[in-house]
Amino acid sequence: MDDSFLSDLGIRKGGLHSGVSHGSFLEQPGGEVVESVSPATGEIIAKVRQASVQEYEEVVKKAREVFLEWRMVPAPERGAIVREIGDAFRAKKESLGKLVSLEMGKIAAEGMGEVQEVIDMCDFAVGLSRQLYGLSMHSERPHHRMYEQWHPLGVVGVITAFNFPVAVWGWNAMIAAVCGDVVLWKPSHSTPLTSIAAQRIADEVLARHGFQGVMNLVIGRSRDVGEALLADRRVPLVSATGSCRMGRHVGKVVAERLGRTLLELGGNNAVLVMDDADPDLVVRAVLFGAVGTAGQRCTSTRRLILQKGIAPEITRRLVEAYKQVKVGNPLEEGVLMGPLINELAVEQMMAALEEAKKQGGEILYGGNKLTGGEYDKGFFVEPTIVKARKDMAITREETFAPVLYVFEVEDLEEAVEIQNSVDQGLSSSIFTTNLLSAETFLSHKGSDCGIANVNLGTSGAEIGGAFGGEKDTGGGREAGSDAWKAYMRRQTCTINWGKDLPLAQGIHFGD
Ligand code: NAD
Repeated sequence: MDDSFLSDLGIRKGGLHSGVSHGSFLEQPGGEVVESVSPATGEIIAKVRQASVQEYEEVVKKAREVFLEWRMVPAPERGAIVREIGDAFRAKKESLGKLVSLEMGKIAAEGMGEVQEVIDMCDFAVGLSRQLYGLSMHSERPHHRMYEQWHPLGVVGVITAFNFPVAVWGWNAMIAAVCGDVVLWKPSHSTPLTSIAAQRIADEVLARHGFQGVMNLVIGRSRDVGEALLADRRVPLVSATGSCRMGRHVGKVVAERLGRTLLELGGNNAVLVMDDADPDLVVRAVLFGAVGTAGQRCTSTRRLILQKGIAPEITRRLVEAYKQVKVGNPLEEGVLMGPLINELAVEQMMAALEEAKKQGGEILYGGNKLTGGEYDKGFFVEPTIVKARKDMAITREETFAPVLYVFEVEDLEEAVEIQNSVDQGLSSSIFTTNLLSAETFLSHKGSDCGIANVNLGTSGAEIGGAFGGEKDTGGGREAGSDAWKAYMRRQTCTINWGKDLPLAQGIHFGD
């Protein structure tokens, strides 16, 4: 494999890298060494020396100091620097996209798509830097003016999951930066090299402008560095992406100190297909949604709810399509599905399938770990379709793997009932050519998810909309729309330009 993309990103193959940057990388962090392993080949790509709690402390202290300066830079000027960060990511898109594939296992097209999300977020944030609007209100008191304005928060902690090793940081970091915050990133230990490469790209641009430390990286163990971040009162907002289990803990610890959280947690996303749907669209969307990123997207399609009349055709065509999916090294041409992230993920998928069978599920396609040849070195599985019943408890869990549970229903009402019966509430979609069905699905008696689509799949959201989900998905919203408000504090201001002091609610006090 041509690995010149690694040197383009400053990654030495087999080398030992620093996992701590406060605008420039620390020489010798004091934490444990973690290995970055390619899930496709089992090969150690490079090693990373993590942060100790003491280094975390130093980085936060310096980040606070940088915040005091950064918040004074006019927002459009901050935006102009973020625009340059976007350009720097454009220049490294291919190399960084390949590193995402190598380290995380998604195919190169998806790896590059992830970097494109960072670029898109930069563009979005540049526009935002001339907005960040507050409202003005009419005061009930004469000669008074009321308005609200938005101020930066401070140091924003960003915890990211392995499956989007750079895009999720981009969603948070670019918005936070134009809002006047500084960022402290704790990435997943499974994808340290991608975070180092992304951090280096941002560091170079920020250093050119004398603003080292607006973005900081602290790769460290969850149990010490992670916990220090959660408990840290100097970090007013913790934006955390990961499993519901992790989110419950993060939510509790940060709430204990009355800090803010922005939680982006697990999903159990469903596609509903009505008899009047266009089958061609359904098959393509479900294939991408369930098999893309080997089912390791938070928005992956995990449940397919088919109306009786169309069910046989869709099921047959999907099985045919699954047969064509080439599983292999994600950097190879023609491969549609790479490996799972590690052996544990393979075991969890196999355990879920055993459970599904016990609960009455029938495997229609796949179901196995792939072995032999190149498969022996990595963590490869077959994309899998399971015929399911609505009473199967396993279908209400998020198994982070390419397992698709297929249900058959009588009508839209039953489909929505199954769709909403899970604890998670991230993404959902319906395929129908009937306006009434589409609108019912989108209405308050329809999908209970943060994302609801018509005639497209559950995954592959654009950055312009606010992204996130309800219920156990955590309620956070990131990226587009007005998600920026989470990164700022709102101040309501009332100004008296008269000569009297009228009180609100008409109260007279001592006069
Ligand atoms: P995970 O929960 O194992 O880890 C996520 C991150 O949390 C990692 O960086 C981890 O180190 C950190 N973490 C764990 N315990 C911590 C602690 N005590 N203190 C501080 N940090 C801690 O998740 P994962 O396996 O990396 O990712 C897969 C999960 O993420 C899935 O459930 C998926 O649905 C979810 N996810 C959600 C979204 C979304 O936007 N809703 C996006 C991507 C992934």
